[in-house]
Amino acid sequence: MRNLSKPLLTRRRMKLTPEMVPEPLWGISACRRVRPQSLWRSIRSCEIDRAGHRCEVCEETTPPLYCHEQWHYDDRKARATLIGFRVICQDCNYAVHIGLAYNRGKGPEALAQLTRVNSISDLEANQMVERATATWEKRSRKNWRLSVSPRLLRAFPQLRVLLGVDTRSNDSSICSIEIS
Ligand SMILES: [Zn+2]
Repeated sequence: MRNLSKPLLTRRRMKLTPEMVPEPLWGISACRRVRPQSLWRSIRSCEIDRAGHRCEVCEETTPPLYCHEQWHYDDRKARATLIGFRVICQDCNYAVHIGLAYNRGKGPEALAQLTRVNSISDLEANQMVERATATWEKRSRKNWRLSVSPRLLRAFPQLRVLLGVDTRSNDSSICSIEIS
């Protein structure tokens, strides 16, 4: 019998989760830093080809498709590492950037996508967002140093521009996340 005092949402791995970028890292991304922009576009088109022009989460093929940057946050070392890219559709992009989705009046669509793709209830989807928000708040209080996984760097040497970026010395005051 299920213990009713436990939260509904288990820690099982979800296909789609909100990935809130810590505030000090807003505006710092491969999409924004790799220049000229044609170099970023070459990464993007390479990844969309690799994914067969479909969303890697829900298999949607309707454009636009986004080249989402996957970052790993090492909370102990305060190091954010770009570990890969995932091609995602519009609705999955809203779910991943759920804070941004709410700001743009797309919160309900984002929640609906979390529910549908993960086969979870509305309540569980809301719990997911609450957890992601709590993590985001903790991570937003730190300064971060950037890194790129060696595998990714071998595939796309143009990502070298991200190495060693430190939010303590970051001169970027851009406060929006580029949807790439
Ligand atoms: Zn999708």
